[in-house]
Amino acid sequence: MDLRFTAEEIAFRDEVRAFFRSEIPQAIRDKVSAGRHLSKQDIVTSQRILHARGWAVPHWPVQWGGQNWTPVQRYIFNTEMQSEAVPPPLPFGAQMVGPVLYTFGNAAQQQRFLPRIAAIEDWWCQGFSEPGSGSDLASLRTRAVRDGDRYVVDGQKTWTTLAQYADWIFALVRTDPLAKKQEGISFLLIDMRSPGITVCPIVTIDGGREVNEVFFDSVRVPVENLVGQENKGWDYAKFLLGNERSGIARIGVTKERLRRVKRLALETPDGDGVLWDDPAFRKQVAEVEIELKALELTQLRVVAADSKRASGKPDPASSILKIKGSELQQAATELLLRIAGPYAAPFMPEPENDDALSNAWPVGPDWAAPIAPQYFNTRKVSIYGGSNEIQRNIIAKAILGL
Ligand SMILES: Cc1cc2nc3c(=O)[nH]c(=O)nc-3n(C[C@H](O)[C@H](O)[C@H](O)COP(=O)(O)OP(=O)(O)OC[C@H]3O[C@@H](n4cnc5c(N)ncnc54)[C@H](O)[C@@H]3O)c2cc1C
Repeated sequence: MDLRFTAEEIAFRDEVRAFFRSEIPQAIRDKVSAGRHLSKQDIVTSQRILHARGWAVPHWPVQWGGQNWTPVQRYIFNTEMQSEAVPPPLPFGAQMVGPVLYTFGNAAQQQRFLPRIAAIEDWWCQGFSEPGSGSDLASLRTRAVRDGDRYVVDGQKTWTTLAQYADWIFALVRTDPLAKKQEGISFLLIDMRSPGITVCPIVTIDGGREVNEVFFDSVRVPVENLVGQENKGWDYAKFLLGNERSGIARIGVTKERLRRVKRLALETPDGDGVLWDDPAFRKQVAEVEIELKALELTQLRVVAADSKRASGKPDPASSILKIKGSELQQAATELLLRIAGPYAAPFMPEPENDDALSNAWPVGPDWAAPIAPQYFNTRKVSIYGGSNEIQRNIIAKAILGL
């Protein structure tokens, strides 16, 4: 198998790289690179620039704004986006509910929502997890009871990322409490401005406000907001989670972080020289780099195989990519922590004030202040998208046949 890019693919890579560098505001890319908090406006600005170029949802069907790219082009695009520190299009729309709608939604839902998702005119959030129903998602208890042309929704979602900005939530709800647990679930689109919805922040260990609890108290939802068939929501959820996992290795993110590690280590005093002179430190960096290169080759093998797969189903190898990719993202933040040394002491900014997260920092060099929050924040990558333990179960069953 030849894993080298063709001349056309290299030209494509150069084109997207040049676009990211020249069109996405440097101030936004600097924030991503430094691990600083992005505002809602930063994410909207970046996605709208991509959208104007036709690149907000390149993986979608052409009819809805997609690009008909090969799996290799998609891989190059995503890796370059990460490596150039460009905020990705809001995943809850572009990666999650969008593909569910163009695959299982009806024509009215597609026309109403898909163009607005691509242009980020609506902000979507994901209402799957509940207290006690994370890995065991099918045990979810939020219920929707049909009442004429409405469903009445009662229950609670949790860990709902950026729900504080959301116009819409796509939620898994129980519509048949008597059926086997996977068979009584439906996929509902709920307007976040509906009476009876309350969003409460969960402040994370890095002091950020990224996740929320969302409560539903007799929320009335029009039946036309049901996606596909009633009680078939588990099938749509599995499809969505498969999409979420592919590309989750985020190799470009780790590449970008390692470049930063080297740059900072060359500037950081250590004894009579700089930290980069320390062979033990360089060995740690080399170990992560070698593992990253191995992961990249594995990812390219999966991408090459994907080009030939007819089923369209995600490769179970994506579980391997998820585990290793998340571990390497975390390893790079550990190297950054080592560079910042005592300046990495945790600092908790005011969570209520977005500006405080990006502007008010304690003693030490400016670059060091976000390193501890970034380290803590990156612990999440081995939990979300299906925890790494769950991925190991998938590998045991689907690959090892245990
Ligand atoms: C930062 C962040 C953002 C998130 N955003 C969203 C969001 O926007 N929307 C949403 O719906 N959800 C979101 N989640 C939730 C995420 O999907 C869940 O946290 C995840 O599925 C794990 O569920 P849990 O937290 O309930 O942990 P649990 O399922 O209770 O697991 C606890 C521990 O037990 C292990 N474990 C559980 N079952 C098994 C098993 N069968 N075998 C081996 N080990 C097992 C797990 O790996 C974990 O280590 C987010 C989570 C985080 C951390």
